[in-house]
Amino acid sequence: MRTKIVATIGPASDNKETLKKLIEAGVRIFRLNFSHGDASRFVDIIRFIRELEAELHIPVTIMQDLSGPKIRLGNLSVASIEVAKNDTILLGPIGAATDEMPYLPFDYPEILESLVCDDRLVLADGGLQFTVVERRSDGLVLLKAANNGIVTSRKGLALPGKATKIAALTAKDKKDLADGLILGVDAVAISYVQTPDDVREAKNIIMAASKNIPVVVKLERRAAVDRLQEILRETDVVMVARGDLGIECPMQELPALQKRIIRACNAASKPVIVATQMLLSMVNNPVPTRAETTDVANAVLDGADCVMLSEETAMGNYPVETVEFMRQIAIEAEKLLLEQHVLKEPDEDKGIEEYLAYSACLLAKKTSAKAIVSHSMSGASARLVSARRSPQIVYGLTPEAEAVKHLNFSWGVQPVYISDITESSHLRRVERFIEKAPQFQPDDTIIITAGQPKQGDQRRGTNLVKIYRK
Ligand code: ATP
Ligand code: MG
Ligand code: MG
Repeated sequence: MRTKIVATIGPASDNKETLKKLIEAGVRIFRLNFSHGDASRFVDIIRFIRELEAELHIPVTIMQDLSGPKIRLGNLSVASIEVAKNDTILLGPIGAATDEMPYLPFDYPEILESLVCDDRLVLADGGLQFTVVERRSDGLVLLKAANNGIVTSRKGLALPGKATKIAALTAKDKKDLADGLILGVDAVAISYVQTPDDVREAKNIIMAASKNIPVVVKLERRAAVDRLQEILRETDVVMVARGDLGIECPMQELPALQKRIIRACNAASKPVIVATQMLLSMVNNPVPTRAETTDVANAVLDGADCVMLSEETAMGNYPVETVEFMRQIAIEAEKLLLEQHVLKEPDEDKGIEEYLAYSACLLAKKTSAKAIVSHSMSGASARLVSARRSPQIVYGLTPEAEAVKHLNFSWGVQPVYISDITESSHLRRVERFIEKAPQFQPDDTIIITAGQPKQGDQRRGTNLVKIYRK
């Protein structure tokens, strides 16, 4: 499979046995949502994943997802509250003196005070909607449900039209990021990004810790969508976070928006993840709906590098089955994608490296090559090749451990860590890999791309394309 699957870890998947099954079913990136715990929640999980990587010989990327300034309910006094359309329910400060139980605890006094009649509140990625009926003198707010649903603890709450201007990185995020870097996460996702500065701020913290892990921008704010080109220059990866994006923007616009964002990411050779509600009905059912299978397939056809699961693997009843389904849908969609594949020349304004990636794909096509093998320090040349969606698997060789995990986000790229760097010639490193790799038979044609700096020259970048016959 070429498409990468991202799975969120939660109570349904945080044991080693399930994590192993998820990797075997196709997960290459695990998402740890720091909205639902701090570093201590994830210590064992990270250890399990590292042990499994070594056992299974599969590089697995751990993506820390920072909470950001998301507004959430507090912990309910009961496991869950079933709400029916037109029911009324109270929202109030944590520990409110009320015997009208259960109520929804909400620890944001300024927001509570700002609520007025007819304000809309949207819970859990749009699952439940409320309107404000009354602000009572005891400080509690009476809400009326606009539809049926279930409320559980710490669900996200959006207030359309009441957006507050807050920086994407909160004090908790900075603390979590520092802890995450110590624990050795491989990537960090920032929530509610609005400006390129939000991305730079995260990058500075990462750099100050002497790390070089990729930043994933979660696109869930209109402001960020409006400045996508600028943000693309700063970020390494993009996530189409359809939950909150579908609340900020009219939901009818979401499909077209998803396609536009993916196209922009492909053009910039930056990996893009499509997230939220992809196979949501599989939380409770062993099979998805027709619409959901189509959604996953369409994301692949749109050009997504990764497809992501949230509730499905975090708290669903069928985490492993969901990943298996997702893999099979992606494999089928990839067949169509490759059937329709057209190798396009880069735009005039693109640089040499873009042309070299294009040449590698062209040569691979003309020689019916088995694979494209790319060696680089940062993995950038493999990403350029991946963005062209050629049918050949791309092996991304790199001596940088962090770049291996970064390459896991790229469609069709199999990252390979080069541990032996005694061989100084990058080309010979690649040739050695091909000679040893059991998947290549004698007489197979393989296209090589590499960047070979001259001795003493610090410049990086691809400058070589070669047809290699094993
Ligand atoms: P976000 O907006 O960041 O996606 P979310 O609340 O939708 O926040 P998800 O990561 O999408 O969170 O996960 C879906 C649900 O799975 C959560 O609402 C929560 O109930 C549960 N969950 C996720 N991660 C954890 C965790 N580490 N521990 C406990 N429950 C979790
Ligand atoms: Mg979100
Ligand atoms: Mg979510």
